[in-house]
Amino acid sequence: MLFRTSYGEDLQIVVAPDPRLLKKAELVGIEELPKMKALATEMAELMYETMGCGLAATQVGILKRLIVVDPDWGILDEESGEPSPPDPHFLINPVILRLWGTKELMDEGCLSVPGITVPIERYESIEVEAFDLDGNMQVFEADGFAARVLQHEIDHLEGMTLFERLDPLLRIEAIQLYEDALAAGAKPGDTTAPGQESTRKRVPEQAATPIEEAVSTVSSAVAPPVTVP
Ligand SMILES: [Zn+2]
Repeated sequence: MLFRTSYGEDLQIVVAPDPRLLKKAELVGIEELPKMKALATEMAELMYETMGCGLAATQVGILKRLIVVDPDWGILDEESGEPSPPDPHFLINPVILRLWGTKELMDEGCLSVPGITVPIERYESIEVEAFDLDGNMQVFEADGFAARVLQHEIDHLEGMTLFERLDPLLRIEAIQLYEDALAAGAKPGDTTAPGQESTRKRVPEQAATPIEEAVSTVSSAVAPPVTVP
């Protein structure tokens, strides 16, 4: 069930080149927590609807430091063979305390940059401090794909998309590919342009499980093969 927020009934993914994606998000004040809680619930719904596994408030046009992540969603459990059910984690005012380990290059997609993936270098491990939706401070570490998703979403709060992470030449190439994908009708959740074969790569904002299986009938869902680059 959708929990409607005071932000309106139609939260939508903002896509590049919307100028809001390039703005730095504001800190959330303690008095804003009830409002953020409502917004977070709706953002999670939207994230699962669009097959995402991470979403920043910036991506729905609200410049507040709130992100939702669920990097495990849809990954097949080795023992049970079942895809992981939705388990959203909400972070308010997240701060990166540490980044360490090998920098790894991996294709990333973004709900706000539909139709393409681009190779982005990220640290292997991260330590983050953030408030939960009740205003409790939490500090935690993440590695691998989860660390990548967190770095990607926190970039959004700083006003950075995938393009700003690329060096100038690659950026020009990526923007050209993106314009072609948009012209072909790419929508949030697509990691390839319509008509192109999807490789179903696991990218920060694309989960492995089709949306129709994701929210309500996860236990009986059969996920497609997952490619983990
Ligand atoms: Zn993104």
